[in-house]
Amino acid sequence: MFWQVFKFFLLLLSGATVFYQLGGNSYALACVGLLLLAVCWSIFEQYKRARLLRWLQRADFDNRPTLVGDLGVVVDKVIRLHRQQEKINDQSVQRLEDFLSAIQASPNGVLLLDEQLSIEWCNQTAASHFGIDMQRDLYQLLANLVRDPLLSQYLKEERVDHEVVILAPGSKPETPRKLSLQLFRYGEGRRLLLSRDITQIELAEVMRRDFVANVSHEIRTPLTVLSGFIETLLFLPVSDEERRGYLELMAQQSNRMQILVNDLLTLSKLEGSPVPSKSEWTQVMVLWQQCEQEAKSLSQLLYPDNPQTITFNIDDSVRELEIAGSRNELLSAMSNLVSNAVRYTPGGGAILVKSEDIGSGAMEFIVEDSGPGIAPEHIPRLTERFYRVDRSRSRESGGTGLGLAIVKHVAQRHDAKLSITSKLGKGSRFALKVPSERLRKYQ
Ligand code: ADP
Repeated sequence: MFWQVFKFFLLLLSGATVFYQLGGNSYALACVGLLLLAVCWSIFEQYKRARLLRWLQRADFDNRPTLVGDLGVVVDKVIRLHRQQEKINDQSVQRLEDFLSAIQASPNGVLLLDEQLSIEWCNQTAASHFGIDMQRDLYQLLANLVRDPLLSQYLKEERVDHEVVILAPGSKPETPRKLSLQLFRYGEGRRLLLSRDITQIELAEVMRRDFVANVSHEIRTPLTVLSGFIETLLFLPVSDEERRGYLELMAQQSNRMQILVNDLLTLSKLEGSPVPSKSEWTQVMVLWQQCEQEAKSLSQLLYPDNPQTITFNIDDSVRELEIAGSRNELLSAMSNLVSNAVRYTPGGGAILVKSEDIGSGAMEFIVEDSGPGIAPEHIPRLTERFYRVDRSRSRESGGTGLGLAIVKHVAQRHDAKLSITSKLGKGSRFALKVPSERLRKYQ
């Protein structure tokens, strides 16, 4: 500032001196020169200010006007401030983008509503939950897009300290999808709606309840029988022969409970333990021979007077194979399939067990029987726990309803695939396909 004033006076002084000398030492001309230079100075200053103002209005911060002195300092300062602001803006935009991508990645739906309850923003999950198209439906009223009285009521509530469950828009009656919604208020009348697809959680809860009910039912029946016999033996006079008969029946029931508990333990171990390693190898022939022995003795026990024809055929190339995984689990899966065939095929029927090389290094373990067969509608549900086609037939032959559930788990844990085909009145075919990664030649 001082320098500016100094320069101004220096200019006037030197101008006045020049005019004074040109005018032959005339003070009048010196005054005219003084005035003239002051006017020129002020016009020039005005011109520079006008340029600065125009530059500021254009906000063309990439092209610096050629201004020096104080105004040049102002220009540099403005450019520096502008760059700083730009950097802050870029960082804010980046933060906002990061924040939005984090919300996008959320497994929950997030929907922002304004004071009128129209949609301001939502993530992909919320869009798919509510069937919203973000381009088309932005700023539409949510209640107009999702016509559910429960949701409309919920959105209007003043105190929202609870969740609400609605049917997802567009979900089919045969496969209903359920959404759990929670509303939060923020800002001035704005709302944040969180949505969660709870279909699987509810299904799991139903399955858990069914499972507990099934186990209780399975255990209650033999327990009732047992306690009935105990009371009879305790309080009623019975002959030795009757006592023996009762004790045999009691042994049968306790045996049934034991089988059930064993199967339950096997299932829970299968669900809770790590996948069997690929470094434990068992010869296919060892599993094969044990299955054969078990099948033949079970068949003899069940049909002593009308024997079944049981044939075991194994391809030569499969004889030499070893299989990777848990020996006990594999044996349990194979013998479950074979024992089912024996149990469900009447005396005199035929059972064929095969192990075939199906190419590309894979093999298939197949159990075919000439039993009653299974109607097509039951086949997809056979591997559900406690699912039985014929309850009494299953119980009579010592079934727990868990055998095929065990087989399915074992198959999954060994990258194998269980396939079931059957024809009512003709028989059934159960096949376990083991992939080449789990097989090698016995060394
Ligand atoms: P279970 O212990 O009752 O045999 P599984 O899970 O092994 O239980 O089998 C489920 C149901 O599948 C059985 O109850 C039976 O109705 C049917 N099933 C299984 N194997 C056969 C078969 N070989 N022939 C006919 N039905 C079968």
